[in-house]
Amino acid sequence: MPGSVSPDTAPAAELPAQVEATEPLDLLLRDLRSSRDGLSTREAHRRLIHAGPNTLRRRGTRQWPRELLRQFTHPLALLLWAAAALAFSVGIEAVAIAILSVIVLNAVFAFVQERHAEHAVEALAAFIPSHATVVRDGSRRSIDTADLVPGDVLIVSEGDKISADARLLDGAVEVDMSALTGESVPVHRGAGPVDSTVPLLQATDVIFSGTACTQGEAVAVVFATGMRTELGRIAALSERVRTEESPLEHQVRRVAWLIAAISVLLGAAFIPLAIFGAGLPFLDAVIFAVGLLVGNVPEGLLPVITLALAIGVRQLAARGAVVKRLSAVETLGSTDVICTDKTGTLTENRMRVITLATTSGDIDPFTATDVAEPVRRAARAVALCTNAHPSPAGGLTGDATDIAVLAAATALDPAAADGVRLRQFAFDSVRKRMSTLDDADGAHTVHVKGAPETVVPLCAAEIASDGTTRPLTERRRADVLAAVDARAQEGYRMLAIADRPLPAGGPDPATPAAAETALTLLAVVSIVDPPRPEVPEAVARCRTAGIRIIVITGDHGATAAAVARRVGIVRGTPAIITGPELDAMSEARLDALLAGTDEVIFARSSPEAKLRIADALRETGHVVAMTGDGANDAPALRRADIGIAMGRSGTDVAREASTMVLTDDDFATIAVAVESGRRVYDNIRKFIFYIFAHATPEVLPFLVFALSGGAVPVPLTVPLLLTFDVGTETLPALALGREHAEPGIMRRPPRPRGEPVIRRRMLLRAWLFLGLICAVLALAGFFTVLLAAGWHPGDPTGPAAALHHAYRQAVTMLFVGMVAGQIGTAFAARTDRASLRSIGVFSNPMLLWGIGFELALTALVVYVPLLQDVLGTAALAPWMIAFVVPFPFIVWGCDEVYRWVVRRRAGRVPDLAGDRGRFNRRRERAPATSRSPR
Ligand code: ATP
Repeated sequence: MPGSVSPDTAPAAELPAQVEATEPLDLLLRDLRSSRDGLSTREAHRRLIHAGPNTLRRRGTRQWPRELLRQFTHPLALLLWAAAALAFSVGIEAVAIAILSVIVLNAVFAFVQERHAEHAVEALAAFIPSHATVVRDGSRRSIDTADLVPGDVLIVSEGDKISADARLLDGAVEVDMSALTGESVPVHRGAGPVDSTVPLLQATDVIFSGTACTQGEAVAVVFATGMRTELGRIAALSERVRTEESPLEHQVRRVAWLIAAISVLLGAAFIPLAIFGAGLPFLDAVIFAVGLLVGNVPEGLLPVITLALAIGVRQLAARGAVVKRLSAVETLGSTDVICTDKTGTLTENRMRVITLATTSGDIDPFTATDVAEPVRRAARAVALCTNAHPSPAGGLTGDATDIAVLAAATALDPAAADGVRLRQFAFDSVRKRMSTLDDADGAHTVHVKGAPETVVPLCAAEIASDGTTRPLTERRRADVLAAVDARAQEGYRMLAIADRPLPAGGPDPATPAAAETALTLLAVVSIVDPPRPEVPEAVARCRTAGIRIIVITGDHGATAAAVARRVGIVRGTPAIITGPELDAMSEARLDALLAGTDEVIFARSSPEAKLRIADALRETGHVVAMTGDGANDAPALRRADIGIAMGRSGTDVAREASTMVLTDDDFATIAVAVESGRRVYDNIRKFIFYIFAHATPEVLPFLVFALSGGAVPVPLTVPLLLTFDVGTETLPALALGREHAEPGIMRRPPRPRGEPVIRRRMLLRAWLFLGLICAVLALAGFFTVLLAAGWHPGDPTGPAAALHHAYRQAVTMLFVGMVAGQIGTAFAARTDRASLRSIGVFSNPMLLWGIGFELALTALVVYVPLLQDVLGTAALAPWMIAFVVPFPFIVWGCDEVYRWVVRRRAGRVPDLAGDRGRFNRRRERAPATSRSPR
């Protein structure tokens, strides 16, 4: 080619730093030391060293000071600031300093957690494969986009994310440029003469990194990579991604605010009551108020939630589901409808042609020996009308359908693929067919393959068994389609193959409509794509979990129904709604169809159908997970609550629009993800419950003190309260975030959208049941020690008083009693309804470690002289320890009885479980009824 230099002879060092992107193509290729045949692998490696990887460096990562500051100005932190200020103002500096250290500790912990979670999500996003197809060493290969270099010849097809700036050499594409221009309507870009007067972004033959191909196929030469691309230049895009607050964190923050407001009001109301009613000195009233504030602020709650979600994200990734935001984990837990496609998700996407039916009979292409003329012509048609290619590693690469037909064609006739492609009208999920214009043996021929319902109506003739052509009568047409239906009912994927030899010297068709007309029907192909073996079990789990599965596929309704039946999605006779039927359906009718419990399959559906279905389901209050792989699935993926893209077979565009990417493309992983989501959500509720249960024992001692008008000395000091809140509470709370799934987690109905994370039953169980038991036990310890020392209400207990040591022991006793109650609560919080025995008492080693730490810290607080001085504690006598030992068992035992009662009542009185429970039971009974006739 004129002006191009063999890439191997031109060292990369001679590449100009910047090429003129709009100069004539030959000059551009010369400047880039490349050719239409691409680079050699060795040269590309050399260039990579000079140009650097094709990645964007992030600027603006120095946001952390602001983020750290946010942790100090957070509403709950502000409350603690107020408590510290109050303590300072009345001269109890030690308390003030203790509160300040808690603010700092808490802020640092929260900050580290958030950063950690953010990095975890970012790092995972980087794992989502991003590949580009290039021509290297003369053949197509898929490479990591980071390895693209200037001079590479890039092949862009529908659904690809474009990852470098490139100039089109051949073909035409529709490009979504919204990342660069904000304009979401796709624009046309095609190889051709350039208008060098327009700005680069508007040049009609240039495509840019960060944009996506929504249609067509083109070949382009890369002229800029990495930070030298237009995208790299846009500083705004390299800003750090912001982590948004998840709905759960939002809810908890609101509840925390509410609690804080209540404690401020309580304090404000009680202080006058304590001073004027109970005659408490002002200083004591302030101590009380500070205690109330500090005791009620659930300090560690928000960072612990972030941490639990981040752990959920990591565990999901390990099981093949990469989620792109933390909040997806909780949404997954409430998913109640999964809209799944069929090919590759329910099936293996490993296709094989089973029969090729022509007018000369049905044959198995891999065993046939005698190849009749119709078969030979059909083999040629599919071998040329395919985008599968031999891969450098051996075998074939490309779309699974294309691979299957190419393998069958070359088995029938090794020379079937001999021909030169002149033009392609790519497959799209609306036309459901593809066609090519090929030059084979000097004659131009149109070859078409696609869904029989879309190809057969375009055929005017068919090939007879002797190789001649005869008109395709209406009757034959109906017979062919009936035969297709019959095969589809057996679960086969069906394709029709047709061609049209063009008259010599005539014009070549320029549009799909012009090409795909007056065709000759050659054959109908049945392809087998076996269901994935793990899917039936996953489907059964979703069923018992009250999750409805709706299949939305581009394939034939009968094929979809057969596959759905095989994996257990369909048990009766499903309503099969085809694309045109859905188009004709009113919104109200669609809502009614989806509101029922009937089995529905949407077949031959278009990507717009997915969007409509997602919309209708969301409108009616469902939480929808929707799978998709094509470029035009992107709107539906964005619209669903959880858009799920395929990591292996999906397009870049779908992956970008989705919230979750399945690295194994497997439906079973969705069920696993839903279960993980439910578990993480449950665990978050467990530690919220655990943390809230401590408010009562923290606040009640101060109330006793205030209401007694000082006759009872303050049972708890603020520094001890803080030690309890931050020191002993946090580790078991973290451990609860790691709890295994409760038995029956996938046998209960999904959580309704918008159900609050903190419910009344939970608060009552926390505050008025377990909290109260803990508080009463701890106060019992306090009074027992005081009374044993001969104390009477109103006796002085100050530093100079004879009872001072006994008072310090009593305070210590209260603290130890609270810790003991906390241990009981931690065990009780491990399950919401199930008995502890059913999940195993020792099945959460983290919790045991947390409790071990808690006990060690308590021992230090009680027995180390230095800490005794700081916190006002005193060593306990052995009988006092013995007094406390049963506390955890009492607390846990009471809760065990409570849960037993709840389980019994839920089992006996069905109404208690609510309507959804009843509905679910009905669905669970369904299989038994349908099995009984057998
Ligand atoms: P799903 O939406 O469940 O993944 P699908 O892969 O069958 O199903 P599409 O890819 O939209 O959905 O395919 C729809 C129909 O188009 C297929 O049933 C088949 O008849 C036809 N078809 C699929 N792939 C090709 C192809 N590469 N060339 C020609 N026709 C095809």
